[in-house]
Amino acid sequence: MTTPTPSIDYAALKSGGIIMQKDDDFFAIRLRLPGGSISADLLPRIAGVAQKYGRGEVRLTAQQGIEIPWVRFGEIEAARKELDDAGLAMGPCGPRFRTVTACPGLPVCRRALADSQSFALKIDQRFGGLLLPHKFKATVSACPNACSRPQESEIGFCATARPRLDADACIGCGLCADICKEKALAQKDGKPLLDMSRCLFCADCIKSCPTDAWKTDRMGYAVYAGGRMGRHAEIAAKIADFVDEEHGMRIIERCLDLYLKHSEKRERLCDLIIRVGIDEFKAAVLDQ
Ligand code: SF4
Ligand code: SF4
Ligand code: SF4
Repeated sequence: MTTPTPSIDYAALKSGGIIMQKDDDFFAIRLRLPGGSISADLLPRIAGVAQKYGRGEVRLTAQQGIEIPWVRFGEIEAARKELDDAGLAMGPCGPRFRTVTACPGLPVCRRALADSQSFALKIDQRFGGLLLPHKFKATVSACPNACSRPQESEIGFCATARPRLDADACIGCGLCADICKEKALAQKDGKPLLDMSRCLFCADCIKSCPTDAWKTDRMGYAVYAGGRMGRHAEIAAKIADFVDEEHGMRIIERCLDLYLKHSEKRERLCDLIIRVGIDEFKAAVLDQ
C-alpha cells in the first residue's frame, strides 16, 4: 500500500518565504533582511543550513535578500527551525509588503544625508509582510544618487537637502559652481546664483564650501510612488519633497489603506494611481 502524498499548500508556503523551484521536489528558503544588512556572525549559520539541508549554495536576490535553494519539502521545517533559532526570519513573498530595501546611508556612505538603514528597518517592522492585493516594494536611499532605486518601487524614499546661501559668508571662490553636477549654480557678480529648477538637493555645494556659506535650508525625503519593474515597467512619480520619517510613515499607511480599499483584483499600485489620477492619489495620502 502506498503512502498518500500530503497535499501541499504552495501559497501558504510562499507567503512564509518558501518558494517552489522548477523541480517541485525542491524549495528555496528566502530570508528577511531589511536593508540587505545582516550580522557577519549569522553568515556561518546560514551556510550551515545551506550545507545541511540544501546543496551548500546560497543566492543573493535582486531585493537584497538571501535564499537557500535545494531544500526538500520534508526538511523545510527543520531548516526553518534552525534559522529561527539563529534569529533569522523568513522573507515575505507573494502579494505582500515585501522586505524593505535600503542603500548603506549614514554613517557608511560619504554622500549620505540620512540613516536610510534605520528608516528602512522602521518601515519593515511596521508594514513588512502585510497581505495586499499584489506585491508591494518599499525602499530608502540616503541621497539623490538613489542607489536602492526608489523610482522603481511602489514607495521610494530619497534623502535630500535644499541649500540656502549666506551671501555675507561667501568669498566668491566659485568652487560650488564647479562642483555642482546639475549646472544649477552659476557665478554672477562674484557670488553663486542658484537655479532651483535644476537643483537635485544633493548638498554637494553645502559640503564643499570652504566658508560654510551654503547652509541647509530644508532636509527630508523626496517620496516616489507607483514604480514597478518587470514585464510592464513604470517609473514612480515624485509625490512629495522634504518629508520627515513620521510623515513618511503616514504616507505609507494611507497609501496601503487606499490600496486595500480601492484596488481591483491583483492590481499593482501604479495601475491604481493611473486609474484614480495622481492628484487624487496625492490628496489621499499626503498630509494636507
Ligand atoms: S544613494 Fe547616496 S547615500 Fe545611498 S549609497 Fe548611494 S550614494 Fe551613498
Ligand atoms: S564655495 Fe562657498 S565661498 Fe565659494 S563661491 Fe560657493 S558659496 Fe561662495
Ligand atoms: S544641492 Fe546639489 S544640485 Fe543643488 S545646487 Fe547644490 S550641488 Fe547643485
